[in-house]
Amino acid sequence: MAKQNTLKDKAVAVIGAGWAGCAAACELAEQGAQVSLFETSRILGGRARGFAIQDRQLDNGQHILLGAYKDSLRLMRKVGVDTDRALLKLPLQMVYPEREDGMSFIAPGLPAPAHLLFALVRAKGLAFEDKLALARFSSTARWMGWQLHQDCSVTELLERFDQTPRLCRLMWNPLCIAALNTAPEKASAQVFLNVLRDSLGASRASSDMLIPRVDLSALFPEQAAAFIRQKGGQVLLAQTVNAIDQDAQGKWQLRLKQDTENTSITSYDAVILATDFANANRLLGTLPASEPTSRSANQTTVMQYEAITTCYLQYAEKLRLLRPMLALLDSPSEKKWGQYVFDRGQLRSDQAGLLAVVVSVSVQACELDQAELAADIARQLAQSLDMPELAQPLWFKCISEKRATFSCAPGLIRPENRTAYTGLYLAGDYTKGDYPATIEGAVRSGVAASIAVQSDFKLA
Ligand SMILES: Cc1cc2nc3c(=O)[nH]c(=O)nc-3n(C[C@H](O)[C@H](O)[C@H](O)COP(=O)(O)OP(=O)(O)OC[C@H]3O[C@@H](n4cnc5c(N)ncnc54)[C@H](O)[C@@H]3O)c2cc1C
Repeated sequence: MAKQNTLKDKAVAVIGAGWAGCAAACELAEQGAQVSLFETSRILGGRARGFAIQDRQLDNGQHILLGAYKDSLRLMRKVGVDTDRALLKLPLQMVYPEREDGMSFIAPGLPAPAHLLFALVRAKGLAFEDKLALARFSSTARWMGWQLHQDCSVTELLERFDQTPRLCRLMWNPLCIAALNTAPEKASAQVFLNVLRDSLGASRASSDMLIPRVDLSALFPEQAAAFIRQKGGQVLLAQTVNAIDQDAQGKWQLRLKQDTENTSITSYDAVILATDFANANRLLGTLPASEPTSRSANQTTVMQYEAITTCYLQYAEKLRLLRPMLALLDSPSEKKWGQYVFDRGQLRSDQAGLLAVVVSVSVQACELDQAELAADIARQLAQSLDMPELAQPLWFKCISEKRATFSCAPGLIRPENRTAYTGLYLAGDYTKGDYPATIEGAVRSGVAASIAVQSDFKLA
C-alpha cells in the first residue's frame, strides 16, 4: 500500500532560522509541507552564523563539531554540502604548545576502543597515575553505561572517579568547559557523560573533531534555505514575528513586525517556534491567557546563560602554527583568557595569518574592552607559543556572545518539543535532549519537532 503523505499541502511556519529552525524546515519541506521560514536577521544561522567585516568573512564565534554530530552531518549532506571539503577532520586530541606545562593526547587512526588505548599509552605530559586515572574513568563510565542514577556536578563526578588534579586541569575541566560551556563545579555530569559516550566511547569516526572550512552560514543554513525554496517553501529574512495566535478552527496566524507582501500565506496548520529560549517565551506569552495547567513547560523553566568570546587576531600571512588547533592553559588571574587557538589559515586559504582564540564561560573577559582583551590574549599567545611576534597583531576583533548557551546545570528540566497548544511546537538547543547547547543539540531538536508535527497530523 502506498504510504500516505500526511504533510502534503499542510502550511507550516517555522520561526527562527538558526540551525534548529533550518533543520526542522528542511525535514518538513522534504515531506511535502508548505514551509515558511521566518528569520528576524538578514543573516541565516542564529548563534552559529557567518558575517562579513572589513573584507573578512568571520563567524560570530569559532565553532567545532564532532564526528558524533550525526543529524547535523546527515542534513548538511542532504542539502548538498560536501562535508569532506567543508570540514577539516582531526583525530580526537588535546595538544598544548610544547612550551607550556601541558600534555599531548592524540587518538591515532585505529578502530575504537584501541584508538583511545594507544592515545593513552603515547600521551606526553601525563604521569603513569594520570594515565591510570583516565583508563579508570573510561572503563567505569562504560561499565555504568554512561548513565548516573542521580545527576551531580562534573567536579563531583571527577572526585568520585578519583581523577588526578593534573588530569582534571589539563583534560577534564577544559573538555567540560568546551563541550558544555559551563564551569565543572556547576555543570551537569550526566550531560558531560552523554557527550563523552558519543565521542570518546563510540567509534573512532564519532570522536573526530570537525572544524569548519567555510563560514557557519555557508556550512548549512544557506544551503538549507536553497533546499527549502527548491521544495516550494519560502524563506523570509528580516521578518520578526511579534505575536502568534490561534483561531477557533485551530489555524495559526502570525503577527509580523514589518508588513510583508512576500507571503501570500496568512494561516498555518502548525507553527514551530525555533527561536532562542527567551524569544520563544515571549511569543508564548502573546497567546491568550489559558489555564495554568495548559501553559507550556517552557514558561515554567528558568534558564541561566553563559557567555563565549572569540578573539580574532590578524598577523602577517606567513604566520603558521604547528597545528590547526591547540589548547591553551588559561589563568584569568594572570589575564590569560584564551583556552583554544585556531589557525584559520590552515582552514581556508583566504585567511592566512588569522588566529581565532576562544574563551568559553567568558563572563569576566566580557567586562574588558576589546582592545584590552585582545592585548591580553596576544601577550598570552606570544608567551605560550614562544613566538614573541604574536604580541603585536596587525588587526583584531573580539566578539562576545553574552547569551551564547544555557548554563548546563545538573538536573536541569528542559521543555519538550510539544507544547500545551495543539499545532504549536518548540525547537532549539535548549529543549529536552541528551546534548548541551550545541549545533547537534539544535539540529536534533529541529528534527524531533518535525517528527512531532508529522505524527500529530497522522493522528488528527
Ligand atoms: C560563540 C559561540 C560559540 C559556540 N561554539 C560551539 C561549538 O564549538 N560547537 C557547538 O556545537 N556549538 C557551539 N555553540 C552553540 C551553538 O551555536 C548553538 O547551540 C546553536 O547555534 C543554537 O541554535 P538554535 O537554532 O537552537 O538557536 P539560535 O541559533 O539562537 O536560532 C534562533 C533564531 O531565531 C531567530 N529569532 C529569534 N526571535 C525571532 C522572532 N521573533 N522572529 C523571527 N526570528 C527570530 C534568531 O535571530 C535566530 O536566528 C556556540 C555558540 C556561540 C554563541
